[in-house]
Amino acid sequence: MGQMTEVDVLILGAGAAGLMCAIEAGRRGRRVLVLEHTDRPGKKILISGGGRCNFTNRDAAPENFLSANPHFAKSALARFTPQDFIDMVEKHRIPYHEKTLGQLFCDRSAHDILNMLLRECTDASVRIQLATRILSVAHVDGSSFRSGSGLSSHSTLGLSFRREAEESASRAPRFRVETSAGPITAASLVVATGGLSIPKMGATSFGYDLARQFGHAIVETRPGLVPLVFNPDDQARWGDLTGLSTEVSVSTAAPPAAKSKRARSTFREKMLITHRGLSGPAILQVSSFWRPGEPIELDLAPSFAPPVGSDSAGTHGEAERIFDPLLAPNARRDLTAAALALRSALPARLADRWLAVHSPAIRLNAQLFALPNSALAEMERQLHAWRILPAGTEGYDKAEVTVGGVDTDSLDARTMQSRTVPGLYFIGEVVDVTGWLGGYNFQWAWASGVSAGQSA
Ligand SMILES: Cc1cc2nc3c(=O)[nH]c(=O)nc-3n(C[C@H](O)[C@H](O)[C@H](O)COP(=O)(O)OP(=O)(O)OC[C@H]3O[C@@H](n4cnc5c(N)ncnc54)[C@H](O)[C@@H]3O)c2cc1C
Repeated sequence: MGQMTEVDVLILGAGAAGLMCAIEAGRRGRRVLVLEHTDRPGKKILISGGGRCNFTNRDAAPENFLSANPHFAKSALARFTPQDFIDMVEKHRIPYHEKTLGQLFCDRSAHDILNMLLRECTDASVRIQLATRILSVAHVDGSSFRSGSGLSSHSTLGLSFRREAEESASRAPRFRVETSAGPITAASLVVATGGLSIPKMGATSFGYDLARQFGHAIVETRPGLVPLVFNPDDQARWGDLTGLSTEVSVSTAAPPAAKSKRARSTFREKMLITHRGLSGPAILQVSSFWRPGEPIELDLAPSFAPPVGSDSAGTHGEAERIFDPLLAPNARRDLTAAALALRSALPARLADRWLAVHSPAIRLNAQLFALPNSALAEMERQLHAWRILPAGTEGYDKAEVTVGGVDTDSLDARTMQSRTVPGLYFIGEVVDVTGWLGGYNFQWAWASGVSAGQSA
C-alpha cells in the first residue's frame, strides 16, 4: 500500500467526460487526480467515429437527447456549446470536416482529440493515474462503498449534509478512496466511469453501483445505438441480403397507450441489412427508443409520394408514387413491370425479394394477370409502412451507448452535483442522458464535464 494522497478533486474514469472535467477543475487551481482502471486513457475516444471521432455536432440541442427528464441537459449544454469545443479543436490546429447533418470528424485520426485533451490536462497540472483499481469509497461521515463486494448499506446522509451544501468549494476531505495504489482523500469525488457498452474496452457497472450505494436511483439501463436482430421468420426472408443498404425513414411503432407517454422520433438515414438483422444509422438511431416486444415501422421509399389516402399524401409536391408507371394507359401491369418500378426505389435484390414476400399476385398465383389498382395501392401502402418485429438487440457488446443511468432527479442540472451528498458528482454517460447518433454523446460528455469542473 502506498502513502496517503490528498487532492481537491478526485475523478473516477479517464474517458471523455472525466478528462474534460479534470481540465476545467485544474484550470481553477484545484489539485486534480484522475483514476483509470485500464492501462490507457480515452480508449473509446480512439475507436469512436470509425477512428476519426465524431467529436461534436454543430447543431446539438436538448431535443437530441433522451432522458426521463428532457429538461435536465439544457443547462450544461448551454454552458459549454459545440462552438466552445470547436474553439478548443481550432486552438490546437486539429484539421476537421463536417461529414453530414452537422457531424464534425477529425480529418486525420481520433488520436488528435485525445492528445489535445491530454495536453490540456498537463497544462492544467492534472495528474492521471492508470491501471489503478478502486477498492472502496467511503464518505467521512461513515457511508462506504466497496467495489465489487455488493455492500448496500444505504446512505442516510441527506439531512446531515444539507447544512454543508454551501461548502462545495472547500478543500476539507470528504471522501476516502482505497485503491490498489494506496488510499486517497478528496474534497470532491466525480464519477465519470461511463456506461455498460463495450465491456472489453473497460466498461463496468461501477458508476451505477456507487450511485445506488449513496442512495441515488438508477433509471433502468439498456443498450442504445445498437443493431437490431431479426426474428426467425424475418431472418429466413431477408437474412441472405447481407450488405444491402437503402435510405429509409424509421420510427418506433409504439402501441397507442404508450405513445402519449413516450417520445416517438423518426429518423431518415441509411439502413443496412446484416447477417443477423438491421443496422446502419437509421436503425441505430431508432434502437435507442425501441423496447422489446415492439415493432419498428420503416418507410422504404421516403422520397416517393405516400399512398393515396395517407395522412401526408399531397405534401410531396410533384413526387411520384412508386407504381405510378404501371397506371399509365397501355402500361404493363404484371410482376415484371412492378419489379422494374420498385427497383427505382430500392436496390434490385431487395426490390425483387420484397415483391416475392409481399406481392398479392404471387399469393394468388396470378403472376400473368394484370395487377389491379387495389393491389398496387396495397403494395404502395406496405412499402411506406413496413413493420418489423425485432427479436432483440445485439446487446452491450455492440452498443455505442447505454440508455438510462443515474436518475437526474437527484442531481443539480447546473453542476451535476448530487442533491443529497455534497461533493459527489456524476457526469457523462453514467447519467440518464443519452444522445442521438452523430456527435451528441461526446458533446454531452464535454458539457457535463465542464459543468462539474466549474463546481467541484
Ligand atoms: C464504438 C463506439 C463509437 C462511438 N463513436 C462516437 C462518436 O463518434 N461520437 C460520439 O459523440 N459518441 C460516440 N460514441 C459514444 C461515446 O464514446 C461515449 O458516449 C463517451 O465516450 C462517454 O464518455 P464518458 O467519459 O462518460 O465514458 P467513457 O468514455 O466510456 O469513459 C469511462 C472511463 O471510465 C473507466 N472506468 C470504468 N469503470 C471504472 C472503474 N471501476 N474504475 C476506474 N475507471 C473505470 C473506463 O475504462 C473509461 O476509461 C461511441 C461509442 C462507441 C462504443
